[in-house]
Amino acid sequence: MANLDFFSLYKNIIAIPSISSSDSKWDQSNEGVIRLLADWFASLGFQIEVTELAEMPGKFNLVATLGQGEGGLLLAGHTDTVPFDEGRWSKNPFQVTEEGNRLYGLGTIDMKGFFAFIVEALQGLDLTQLKKPLRILATADEETTMAGARTIAEAAEFKPDYAVIGEPTGLVPVVAHKGHMSELIRITGKSGHSSDPANGVNAMEIMHQAMGQVLGLQRTLKEKYADHRFAVPQPTLNLGYIHGGDSPNRICGCCELHIDMRPTPQVGADELFGMLKEALSPIEIHQPGCLHLQHLHDPIPAYACRDDSELVREAEKASGKRAESVNYCTEAPFIQQLGCETIVLGPGHIAQAHQPDEYLDLSFVEPTKAVLQHLVKRFCL
Ligand SMILES: [Zn+2]
Repeated sequence: MANLDFFSLYKNIIAIPSISSSDSKWDQSNEGVIRLLADWFASLGFQIEVTELAEMPGKFNLVATLGQGEGGLLLAGHTDTVPFDEGRWSKNPFQVTEEGNRLYGLGTIDMKGFFAFIVEALQGLDLTQLKKPLRILATADEETTMAGARTIAEAAEFKPDYAVIGEPTGLVPVVAHKGHMSELIRITGKSGHSSDPANGVNAMEIMHQAMGQVLGLQRTLKEKYADHRFAVPQPTLNLGYIHGGDSPNRICGCCELHIDMRPTPQVGADELFGMLKEALSPIEIHQPGCLHLQHLHDPIPAYACRDDSELVREAEKASGKRAESVNYCTEAPFIQQLGCETIVLGPGHIAQAHQPDEYLDLSFVEPTKAVLQHLVKRFCL
């Protein structure tokens, strides 16, 4: 790699589309971005390992390693972006536009652009004297299934001491967030002519009871499980979608409810799912076999970094900002499974993520570079 200036790095990575979406019309491979990153980090002397995810052709993770031994620092991020709102962008999402002290483009802050920051920061350091290894992790499909980070958590053969995920936190160290679960509750009854209730088993009536139980759990969560790190302290439970029956003159044969639950570091996803099952168990007693419960997607666990973490202290010192908790999910719970202290810290504001005309405010460039250099010096040099 010719010694690239920051703007060229940014331009090149944004120019390669890497949308992930559960809608196959939008979903793309991230291979182009992974190959670019392989070039960048190989030219800085890193050893490159690119892995295609099992049963997900075209989706790749990259691990780049510099230095030997155990521990050290991991700088991590995802290579995919969300789809862009057609017609709502005033600029080309894949061509970086500089305007009014901003760089516009899809992924500028969420978060392919972070890898350009890493290269920029490392170009200013003497990396020949590393005492601990420095690793870069670039994952696939964070915006959909988090499959890339899940794979790393299960299969990685390295254990950093510290990890920083460069999602757009406004360069504030983020040390905790809730998780996310989507659950399906289906009641199957028996349809029949409406003129005689004995003709069937009304699924909607049973669902009415089930909803009473679910709302009871919602109250219990609020009363008993507050975690005041979060603006909304309790694990939340939201009734979000319901469909049942097909006609007023038929006994409702099937009714389906979808709910969203947000586990906290204290009340994990498995525990919360167990509470839901328990709350719904009386429904099964009245009508055996009528209840079906399943995850609509694999749960994303909640996450919290240790209060006495040295990484948090150093990140606060370097950024000049106190650590915070947030209300969005990241790959942190999976990266943390590697056994490292993990924080989320990166340039740009989350409010501009997943929005038309996503942009990086250029006032983040120097502070981000300084924070990254501080952490690499502190933990690897
Ligand atoms: Zn992101």
